[in-house]
Amino acid sequence: MLLHRLTEYAACAEADSELPPPYYRPRRIQWILRIAEDGRSAAFVGRRPAKGEKAQETTAPYAYRSGTMPPPFLIVDTAQYVLALPKQVVGKPVAERAAEDAYRRREAYAALLLEWADAAVGDPLAGVVRTFVTTGVLQSLTVPEEMTSADVIALMVGTTWLHRLPSAQGTWASVVRSRKSGKAAAALCLVCGKDGELLSTIPESIKSGAIPTGGRGRDAQLVSINAAARGRGRAIQLVNTPVCEGCGGRAMAALNLLLASDTNRRRTADSVTVWWTQEPVDDRTSRAPNSPAPPCSTPA
Ligand SMILES: [Zn+2]
Repeated sequence: MLLHRLTEYAACAEADSELPPPYYRPRRIQWILRIAEDGRSAAFVGRRPAKGEKAQETTAPYAYRSGTMPPPFLIVDTAQYVLALPKQVVGKPVAERAAEDAYRRREAYAALLLEWADAAVGDPLAGVVRTFVTTGVLQSLTVPEEMTSADVIALMVGTTWLHRLPSAQGTWASVVRSRKSGKAAAALCLVCGKDGELLSTIPESIKSGAIPTGGRGRDAQLVSINAAARGRGRAIQLVNTPVCEGCGGRAMAALNLLLASDTNRRRTADSVTVWWTQEPVDDRTSRAPNSPAPPCSTPA
């Protein structure tokens, strides 16, 4: 029921252009890597805020990742993926294993850039990125001294953010779908009632900090069975919650939108409540404290 209502709200918010592209979310960017228009050189531009300043955000590719070798995000990722900058404990030398791990991540990041360039035939900027990767410019960049492995880097050519290109948005959505959909044949989604490719896990998570998580500050999954003992019939992941990619992704995007809202959310020390209405409501009601605000102008 909750997923039903959230997908309805997502359709409404999408019509009002309030939702980001599929599997994009606001992210803080610490560095821009500006690629020359011939793809044969690149330079870093620092965007880390000065003390007291708020970091700038842009909606960028994102999907929940876990495991021992989490896959890269398209175009915008941390320095560990973009530059093979290993994780380092302050005051200690870089462990060999951390260095190897970072190299593998950069290889996967570069391969994903080329996957987009292959899919975006005819997009001149994708061609620039192909040159940037295949001529070894990416692999020979000098890492700025003050950069850390967790810093997020976005790529630009001229004044264009590459992750905002429609071709990048399309490639990223299909990459996430292929990573997160189950291997089974199409089956009935209990949200939309149609046969579709069912998800094994929901690609989008609840954003870190949006709900109280006991101080751990990590992304959280709305529906997730990790251990057989907790699942009906010992089934794990989403086997007991059949939901297709369209419904699962959009429901979570809608929930994150509500959790980030000042008008449709109320936080307490150990809980968060969000609300929305299916029909537009009287303006006077929406301005009253703690009352449901109209989420969008289009009736659900
Ligand atoms: Zn569905």
